Amino acid sequence: MQPTTRSKRTPPEPIACEHCGAMRQPRIVLRDDGTPYEIAGIPAFFGWEECPCPRAEEERRARAEAEARERAEARESAMRQAVEASGIPPRYRGAAHPWAQKMADDAANGQGFYITGPNGTGKTTLAMAAGLRLIEAGRKVFAVATYDLMDAMRSRKAEEREVFDRAASCHVLILDDLGKEASNTAYACERLFAIIDKRDKAMLPTIITSNYRLSEIAKNITEGAVGVAIASRLAASCKQVALEGEDRRLTSGQD
Ligand SMILES: [Zn+2]
Repeated sequence: MQPTTRSKRTPPEPIACEHCGAMRQPRIVLRDDGTPYEIAGIPAFFGWEECPCPRAEEERRARAEAEARERAEARESAMRQAVEASGIPPRYRGAAHPWAQKMADDAANGQGFYITGPNGTGKTTLAMAAGLRLIEAGRKVFAVATYDLMDAMRSRKAEEREVFDRAASCHVLILDDLGKEASNTAYACERLFAIIDKRDKAMLPTIITSNYRLSEIAKNITEGAVGVAIASRLAASCKQVALEGEDRRLTSGQD
């Protein structure tokens, strides 16, 4: 159904339905007063009336379904690419948790979260499931194991800068397993503080998972002032979520 060119001096002729041969009239656009809307003195028209015959109708229905399928596939493909780019690990790309949507909604409004609890209570599942909901809502999410982030910040300059910028400026940063990394260099800890500080000032939320409570996280990141500074920034900007319960990995195979 193409609007015809305006070069013709006269409105188009009716055309025959390819299925039943019935004539399809050009669609004239009428003004409020009932006269045809004109462009350069020629009645404006937009294609031809649809033929109501069953085969023409079937063809339109099939075309609409194919278009809807293509749109759904394009959406899924875009979602898949965004999830892959986010750093959410493959085993969590189907993660679901009853609290995920609420957490995602609050994070979308700038609320950070500090999820704590023993191993296997579903901390990472909750954080990643919220991350997936945020990606669905069009947010740029960067999920990274804290160990890998700290490790990247010891490496080559250009690469470090890239990771730092991404962690500092993405809509939602997910820092998995804070405090578990064993030997943080002083420099990496300062960079981590700088990331959290930049995010805090820009009101960009961070979702953190940790085996340690906020009250005990400082010394598990690093001894001294930087650890305390990181912990106090997190305390100010994150809502604390404590997960309890048996080790879910024993029954469900997921953290
Ligand atoms: Zn027809």
